[in-house]
Amino acid sequence: MWPKTLKNAPGQGNYLEFLARRDKSVGAFLHVTGSIRQNGGAPSDSGADGGNTCLEGVPVAVKDNIAVEGMPLTCGSRILEPLVSPYSATAVERLERAGARVVGKTNLDEFGMGSSTETSALGETNNPWDVSRVAGGSSGGSAAAVAARMVPVALGSDTGGSIRQPAAFCGVYGLKPTYGTVSRHGLVAYASSLEVIGAAAESVDVLEAAYAAMSGSDVMDQSSLDHPVPPPDSGATRIGFLGGELGLSPEVAENYARFVEALGDAGYETEEIALSTLEYVVPAYYTIASAEASANLARFNGVRYGHRTDYSENPEELIRKSRTEGFGSEVKNRIVLGTYVLRSGFQDQYYLRAQKIRTLIRREIERAFAGVDLICSPVFPTQAFPHGSKEMDAFQQKVADRFTGTANLAAIPALTVPSGLAGGLPVGMQFMAPPFGEGRLFAAARTIGEIFPVEFPPGMEPPWAADRE
Ligand code: GLN
Repeated sequence: MWPKTLKNAPGQGNYLEFLARRDKSVGAFLHVTGSIRQNGGAPSDSGADGGNTCLEGVPVAVKDNIAVEGMPLTCGSRILEPLVSPYSATAVERLERAGARVVGKTNLDEFGMGSSTETSALGETNNPWDVSRVAGGSSGGSAAAVAARMVPVALGSDTGGSIRQPAAFCGVYGLKPTYGTVSRHGLVAYASSLEVIGAAAESVDVLEAAYAAMSGSDVMDQSSLDHPVPPPDSGATRIGFLGGELGLSPEVAENYARFVEALGDAGYETEEIALSTLEYVVPAYYTIASAEASANLARFNGVRYGHRTDYSENPEELIRKSRTEGFGSEVKNRIVLGTYVLRSGFQDQYYLRAQKIRTLIRREIERAFAGVDLICSPVFPTQAFPHGSKEMDAFQQKVADRFTGTANLAAIPALTVPSGLAGGLPVGMQFMAPPFGEGRLFAAARTIGEIFPVEFPPGMEPPWAADRE
């Protein structure tokens, strides 16, 4: 378990040394703080649960596309490498007011674009279960930091699966909340209509505490929602599991079958469901995400933020050279694709069509929830793949987003739960709930957690274990 306060852990200095030591083989962090700030701030008056004391002293890592005052905010990109954030994201502020302590910034695919953390320009993150494999992405550093017991909880962002997929690869919990329930103020925008801040965590308790502390409306984010934190909900009785030909690896297929069986053993009524829109998730997601990315990333031009080219003859050249030098190839691909689908005269054909498909996906999900309380599906067709995998190239990684993208397009909450090991590597399954159904997700995760408790890589003890009974 995580320490109630950092006092239970070895001294701060020792803890930071421990982080540096353990992270040598994992590479979860891009930045570790020199000293953990003790936040003397008043209890939150704006967070949904500012009085939450269960996070007191809990070390938390933050994905490096979420602002923490005084820390770098690189987004895993050369273009923002020089940037130090002058302010903190609302989610971070609220966590700190609830007592959590930010210990560092974690690695990610550049601007959140990818599924392996390999598109980061600033470092490689390894899976703590097998360092020759990826931790997943784009919040790979956050999931790896939790799996390697460096922190009990780490913030991530999820645009199309970026918290849930690395959580599955690393064997930890990963929550993508209902769109709008966590303020995006201070999250560097990738695809604004799809993404939300959430977290990877070692237990449902700490995940729930973090979500309760972070969520609630925020004047700094017009899309944030003033929805009360859902009460604990154990009301789910019927679970629909996604059936049909899902294209899973043999290990994941076998694990999925066992997981569905376990749901029955745990007392849920299970029924197979089909989602006819599943095959449209990836094309719709990438059309919308790239379109929004091309607009959102236009602000990184070498004039106001981050990297600026050494020499240019005129402003156009300054912008072109700064962007050419600053962005990696995956980001450039997406900007080009996004600009293409938005170009004048062609919006009907691509962007607006994708929006219509998005509506159909949302409607089908609504219909499905008329018959079941939760939907269960795999998170990703495979387990963590090797670094530089040819089979799982950038295209195949996108195709594999088919199970996670639905929740973003439909703006519903979804949770990855660990479902055991296969061949020494973790597998994770996903629950999706109707909007604001986080309580239902946590309840189901606790129930199924009795059957599939979280496991950690051998030898990766947390630094605070010695202080506890
Ligand atoms: N793999 C997806 C992408 O590359 C998801 C990323 C995310 O959720 N940030 O866009």
